[in-house]
Amino acid sequence: MGMVLVEDEGPRQWNEEEVELVAAVAQEMTQALEAAHLFALEQRRARQLEAAAQVSRAASSLLDLDELLNRVVELIRDAFGFYHVQVFLVDEENYAAWLRASTGETGRMLLERQHHLIVGSHSVIGQVTATGKPVVARDTDQDHVHRRNELLPDTRAECAVPLRVGTRIIGALDVQSTEPDVFDEEDIAVLQTLADQLAVAIENARAYQQQRETAERLRELDQLKTQFLANMSHELRTPLNSIIGFSRVILKGIDGPITELQRKDLTTIYNAGQHLLGLINDILDISKIEAGKMELDFEDVDLNQIIDGVLSTTKGLIKDKPVRLRKEVPEELPTIRADATRVRQILLNLLSNAAKFTEEGEICLTAVRTGDEIMMTVSDTGPGIPEEKQDRLFEAFYQVDSSMTRKVGGTGLGLAIARHFVEMHGGRIWVRSVVGQGSTFGFTLPIAGPLENGKDIHRQPVVLAVDDEPGITELYTRYLEPEGYSVISVNDARDVLLAVRRYQPDVILLDIKIRDMNGLDVLRTLRQEELTREIPIVVCSIEEDQREACLKAGATDFLPKPILRGELVGCLNALLQAQRM
Ligand code: ADP
Repeated sequence: MGMVLVEDEGPRQWNEEEVELVAAVAQEMTQALEAAHLFALEQRRARQLEAAAQVSRAASSLLDLDELLNRVVELIRDAFGFYHVQVFLVDEENYAAWLRASTGETGRMLLERQHHLIVGSHSVIGQVTATGKPVVARDTDQDHVHRRNELLPDTRAECAVPLRVGTRIIGALDVQSTEPDVFDEEDIAVLQTLADQLAVAIENARAYQQQRETAERLRELDQLKTQFLANMSHELRTPLNSIIGFSRVILKGIDGPITELQRKDLTTIYNAGQHLLGLINDILDISKIEAGKMELDFEDVDLNQIIDGVLSTTKGLIKDKPVRLRKEVPEELPTIRADATRVRQILLNLLSNAAKFTEEGEICLTAVRTGDEIMMTVSDTGPGIPEEKQDRLFEAFYQVDSSMTRKVGGTGLGLAIARHFVEMHGGRIWVRSVVGQGSTFGFTLPIAGPLENGKDIHRQPVVLAVDDEPGITELYTRYLEPEGYSVISVNDARDVLLAVRRYQPDVILLDIKIRDMNGLDVLRTLRQEELTREIPIVVCSIEEDQREACLKAGATDFLPKPILRGELVGCLNALLQAQRM
């Protein structure tokens, strides 16, 4: 361990007693030193274990890759007292290991320089990433595998261990010390354990990031699609108007007399133009609806007039087939608050489907008053729709049998549009069908239009829960449904307006820490939109310090997460109570 040296000023003889004394002192000191050494070692191991636990916690809780790596390098540096700690990740081509996290100001500068080392190069990192084995430069003054970095002038020893996923080497964890000869086998083993945990966490974070990016790309694509459809429909309508308009002018004889053959051909052009216009309008409608931009014009509507109009159009559609058209409508139908154009569209969509798919038999339109609503049905004796497909009929672009529709044409939008319009009127739409016998589509329209403020006080109160964590909205459902609330979950803030339109919620629960979006902005937007201006919004957030900002931005109340059942129910009950008074 060492030695004790005792000297005197001049030459002298040491007697036995003196020698024994020094030997005894040395013995005592040895024991004390050994104990101190063991204690230090134990402390160091305890710190390392603690660090390992912390790294493991960070690894399992942080999904953002940069945040994870930055946290881990700091943790390791502080727990082990290293001079410098960094993580390199190998690029996809396995060409170089790039610095991804690095401690302190030096680390920041190295990252800024995009510090990297070629895999297999003569450097600690180059060797680790090439061989997948730990590499130690015990004394950097002598070990030439260490490459001196002028930003790290005090490094005297370096140890790097590989980050491995299966047989793949995805990077290296690198630690540096200002003392030579400090890394023993046990240190390397501990570092390797940390690196193994870290490698798994990196893979998780990457997978998560990829998933998020994919979801984001899909969302962008979806928006682009909607925008594209809207633009295209618009662009297509302009030339179509000329085609329809001028063929009609010629057909009417305004440009001079035409032959019978010309009339026939022009009629075909005119009808095809009208058909195309119908399709384009459908696409335009659905994109507007999906973007939450469809507005209805409510007025007093005479249903009889609309019914006669659509029946006369339907007659034209079945004139070449042995299909009868029947109407069962009482003389005295009340006028209703509705958007006449859209009601006409709902009926036409149902009737033209019936006409399209029915080869023989009958199509029947009924209307009847049931309480506060008008219920209308369109039945046919067509092929019918298999039960398992009926659920999806009202989704955009869904078609039961594409070979059939290829024959008869169609985009799969008619029913989706009809459903949206019915729901925007505050009604419901459904289908009943038996294969081989026919189908009946029915819907209701409230006579008074969508109820005042969109609310019917007799129905279950509806809570729209907005949180990007499905687990949380699920929890709200579990809390609230037994209390008589119906809970609609929205996991993407962009769907809020659509959901509000469809479900007319009484209250919105809003998380303001929503992926990729500033929750406060969402809140402000909801406060500006006419549709949502009056709906109470309760912000549920972990960020208690945002309470004031939320209330200022228009939140009705603020509940700190984790949300307790009693608190949530109490808050909602009080809000509804206040609303009904
Ligand atoms: P489109 O008719 O343009 O394809 P719709 O949304 O109107 O789109 O209808 C979706 C699908 O529902 C149709 O493709 C068809 O398969 C089925 N369908 C709709 N109405 C009927 C009907 N009356 N009889 C049989 N199938 C129908």
